[in-house]
Amino acid sequence: MRIGFIGLGHMGGPMAANIIKGGYEVTVFDVHDTATAQLKALGAEVASSPAALAAEVDVVVTMLPGPVQVREVITGTNGVLEAIRSGSTWIDMSTSSPGLGRELAPRFAERGVGQLDAPVSGMAKGAIAGTLQIFVGGEETTYQTARPLLETMGDPARIFLVGPIGAGHTVKLLLNLLWFDHAVAAAEAFIMGSLAGIDIDVLQRALVASPANSHFIEHDINSVFVGDYDESFALRLVCKDLGLAVDMGRDLGVPVEMAALVEQIHRRALRTYGENGGEMLAVKLLEDLTKVSLRRPV
Ligand code: NAD
Repeated sequence: MRIGFIGLGHMGGPMAANIIKGGYEVTVFDVHDTATAQLKALGAEVASSPAALAAEVDVVVTMLPGPVQVREVITGTNGVLEAIRSGSTWIDMSTSSPGLGRELAPRFAERGVGQLDAPVSGMAKGAIAGTLQIFVGGEETTYQTARPLLETMGDPARIFLVGPIGAGHTVKLLLNLLWFDHAVAAAEAFIMGSLAGIDIDVLQRALVASPANSHFIEHDINSVFVGDYDESFALRLVCKDLGLAVDMGRDLGVPVEMAALVEQIHRRALRTYGENGGEMLAVKLLEDLTKVSLRRPV
């Protein structure tokens, strides 16, 4: 079985490497030659376009920045839809728009191609370790067929079918929205605590033991305490995800006032620190404003 993998960045590079380790033959495509060279060294074939890749594989996986690139790679000139084979499957693992997957579904169905959305969480370190959490949208039979492939990239106990096409993207956008809400809320709490004279270690231990605990407060904020804002997930992607979450609220007719505010705070961070800055730089915005540095003494 040959797998085609398109988009070999922070996430896609190690995910494609893990598919090779899992025993599959792999063909890759990326607009950057340096990304494909690393996979070639591991034994992958390199295709000249998404169409050339789709013509020779049983499964096409996309792991692209977002819906703009997914649309281009699938429907553009030399795109996947020009050449994908009947009986094959397209799995979009990018964090993308639920609406785009649903819009493309009839075009894949009429070509006899299966389709799943399967976005992930677990950061670049999870992609390297092959322990990603994967939220799958699509039909049960397509999901069951794809599971062994997904298990080369993710933790088998944390790979879930969450609903029909688009449901995986929906769950992933909700997860990211909540996580970035937590980042902004935690920044406010820790900076106020610090200014009020409470040791950040003591405050963290107290909050972790309280009903206000969260994964962010217990684990993720620790990297901020050593000055690491996690550049493996760029602010341009954070703002894309939060924008898609706000769009979803608009589509569903739900007022998402806090989501919109959290999106704007992250957009401010992007303008301040640059689009490739780390995902937790919204915390630094408040650190810089208040001149409070959330660091543990070394
Ligand atoms: P990235 O920017 O590091 O990688 C994207 C890759 O896609 C790059 O190699 C780029 O050259 C390639 N690309 C862009 N346009 C292309 C095109 N038209 N054709 C072919 N290749 C193209 O991004 P990433 O951090 O690997 O994230 C990928 C996806 O995973 C995003 O949707 C992101 O939101 C999601 N995600 C990222 C993380 C993380 O921690 N980085 C975690 C979970 C999910």
